[in-house]
Amino acid sequence: MSDVTTVAIDGPAGSGKSSVSRAVARALGYAYLDTGAAYRALALACLQQGVDTADAAAAAEMARTADVRLGTDPDDYFVRVGETDVTEEIREPRVSAVVSAIARVPEVRVGLNDRFRDIVEGTAKPGIVVEGRDITTVVLPDADLRILLTASEEARIARRQAQLGDASAAVGDQLVARDRKDLAVVDFMSAAEGVTTVDSTELDFGQTVDAIVELVKKVTD
Ligand code: C5P
Repeated sequence: MSDVTTVAIDGPAGSGKSSVSRAVARALGYAYLDTGAAYRALALACLQQGVDTADAAAAAEMARTADVRLGTDPDDYFVRVGETDVTEEIREPRVSAVVSAIARVPEVRVGLNDRFRDIVEGTAKPGIVVEGRDITTVVLPDADLRILLTASEEARIARRQAQLGDASAAVGDQLVARDRKDLAVVDFMSAAEGVTTVDSTELDFGQTVDAIVELVKKVTD
């Protein structure tokens, strides 16, 4: 085992995982790994190349061949496919709409999980915050700290609407539908044994970051 402190954070869509995890990493001088970005980048590559995302074999082939690169510096975060920056594009609703189909393919998950663990092993910083859906249970079940970041469905929909600048009901419908599909693959709504739940429904962004930073300090001090 390396000396890197590992912080695993799972949770549903709109729980604030990505922005909170990145801010926690920044506050602690840790690296940051957004695993959902890898699934999104593969989904975007399929869309761009006309690959049917419902075709599991084609998705697995894309996972083997696509050159997905993830930045792990919270101050210089990027997602690239080859040399092309896709940091913004992977957040588009058209990608969110198809990413669950890619993520349910076992070969895709196994390949990405190996890469995620390699990134964790190779980090040059004192710690790394890794966020996704199955980090506390599958990718890093032995992480130094494991957190389930939740919020009420209402709060999560409101946050996603604010993030996209779109207050329509369709945003909420898509979020709920995506969670339902993702839950068929991995349970990220209930905390596994040893996982600490942080409910951010009544917390603002800064309070959520502070709560997690305090939990990290408890395991590292
Ligand atoms: O976290 P984010 O919402 O960006 O994740 C996008 C998608 O990637 C999820 O809806 C899910 O299908 C997939 N995902 C996953 N396992 C992870 C992270 C994300 O299946 N660890």
